[in-house]
Amino acid sequence: MADRHFDVVVIGGGPGGYVAAIRAAQLGYKVAVVERDKLGGVCLNWGCIPSKALLANAELMEKLQDREAWGLKITGEVGYDWDKTITRSRDVAGKLNKGVEFLMKKNKIESIKGSAKITGKAAAVNGKPAWSIAVQECVVKAEITSAPATPGATRETVTATNVIIATGSVARDLPFARFDGETIWGAREAMFNKGQPKRLIVVGAGAIGMEFGYFYHTFGTKVTVVEMMPNILPVEDDDVCVAMEKVFKKHGMEIRTNTGVVNIEKVGSGLTATVKVTVAPMVKGADGKIAPDASKKEVLEADKVLLAIGVKGRFDGTFDQSLGLATERDHLKTDFRPVGWDGPGKGTTNERIDYKTNLPGIYAIGDVIGPPWLAHVASEEGVLCIERIAWRDKKIDHEPIPLDYTVIPGCTYCHPQVASVGFTERHLKEQGLVKGKDYDVGVFSFSALGKAIATRNTDGFTKIIRSLPRGEILGAHIMGDQATELIAELSLARRLEATTEEIICTVHAHPTMHESVHEAALASEGRVINS
Ligand SMILES: Cc1cc2nc3c(=O)[nH]c(=O)nc-3n(C[C@H](O)[C@H](O)[C@H](O)COP(=O)(O)OP(=O)(O)OC[C@H]3O[C@@H](n4cnc5c(N)ncnc54)[C@H](O)[C@@H]3O)c2cc1C
Repeated sequence: MADRHFDVVVIGGGPGGYVAAIRAAQLGYKVAVVERDKLGGVCLNWGCIPSKALLANAELMEKLQDREAWGLKITGEVGYDWDKTITRSRDVAGKLNKGVEFLMKKNKIESIKGSAKITGKAAAVNGKPAWSIAVQECVVKAEITSAPATPGATRETVTATNVIIATGSVARDLPFARFDGETIWGAREAMFNKGQPKRLIVVGAGAIGMEFGYFYHTFGTKVTVVEMMPNILPVEDDDVCVAMEKVFKKHGMEIRTNTGVVNIEKVGSGLTATVKVTVAPMVKGADGKIAPDASKKEVLEADKVLLAIGVKGRFDGTFDQSLGLATERDHLKTDFRPVGWDGPGKGTTNERIDYKTNLPGIYAIGDVIGPPWLAHVASEEGVLCIERIAWRDKKIDHEPIPLDYTVIPGCTYCHPQVASVGFTERHLKEQGLVKGKDYDVGVFSFSALGKAIATRNTDGFTKIIRSLPRGEILGAHIMGDQATELIAELSLARRLEATTEEIICTVHAHPTMHESVHEAALASEGRVINS
């Protein structure tokens, strides 16, 4: 049988890959997606969506724990079915996976099951160079974070004029603590585990670490969060980090910031195994570097430890090494430059880039090309990548608008939620900008907001940083109920270069959480009404 040829082959069916494939099909290309596990990728199957299902359970639990304040009377004890909680989250993921399968059919995209490996150049098709891609049998143990994918025999070879690599990322572990699927957990074990640990140590207080920390803590697990940076959620603005830490501590979570992990030791085996995590305070050494102080070590004990310390690009077996596809810092190298990789403040903002690798006709998008590792970024990159290919192929008559990497909302979905867009005030200060001269800040506390008081959601605030003298939104930072929804208004405002004045003259419905955006904009101009 002759090799099947496609205009576009997308490797990986996550939010980057499947969205790129749909846009390519809409533009009239003959498209295939090769996925070795489940369509929907990490996001739909093991990330964004199933974790939010678990968090929804936790929020409900929290409300029930707070029942007296709500005037609820429940006779007997409020219990929960752990197994059902986990199963519900898996069912939600399964439903969305089926949804993506349907979308592939609807858009007449060839969905090919297997592990894709770019093996080399193929014969040109219609005068255009092409690549050969082997589709291999593959066994994936999806519920294990280290997710060993073992490609086997080649089932078929396809060829493509354009290849988009959207193979995502895998979690990082530590040299002295490898994921073992049992005691040393990554996100997958934390999401899938059938038995609730009594004690859990979460290493890394980023969004994933704090979301799981909140989930387990709410269900009664004793959670200790260890973070080497001075604050939890270290990418957020300082006042948000401090306020979030206060809330979590008030609720009884143990949080150790400025603390490094120097060793992790598993004690025993099987279900009764425990774990000893040796930590030490981070201090500045004689060389000016911040490192754990070995003289002040302390051992923490738990049943499980969750490593939530970041990710690296996944491209095991995706291409033949002899092709010389360039990589950088554990990711695929493209013309996209992640912020900070080429020096402080440097990186792609809204330049016209193609997401091209060093090999012509091979592109890469999503987590595999570096931070920010977010589903919405992967999807937008997928759309833009294929639209730029189409523009060069003269299928689109205007050059696509580039993605503005300074307008990417980042969200953490525990309760209270956190969401932000644009610059932090910390960053502006580091850049030498001065409050009152270069920028102003408006903060509106939820404790003064009618809707927040009515719904018992007074922990939190909206903060807007406006430029001076014109008042464009430099950054927005929201902590509290519905923060992850509220941020959309401020993302749009920043994208449109709107000013606080334009937010102020936009009527916001009452009573809503959105009024906090209106009031924060007013506050940034020194004319807040309701506080
Ligand atoms: C617990 C958790 C919670 C998260 N929550 C959020 C959130 O709330 N919001 C958010 O924006 N992001 C969140 N993320 C991050 C988000 O999941 C990723 O940014 C997103 O999935 C990246 O999309 P992608 O398409 O680049 O890759 P992926 O979603 O990882 O998809 C890549 C796909 O490629 C397949 N693949 C890999 N190699 C091959 C190969 N050689 N052949 C065939 N197929 C291959 C994989 O099986 C996978 O299905 C979360 C992540 C985790 C782990």
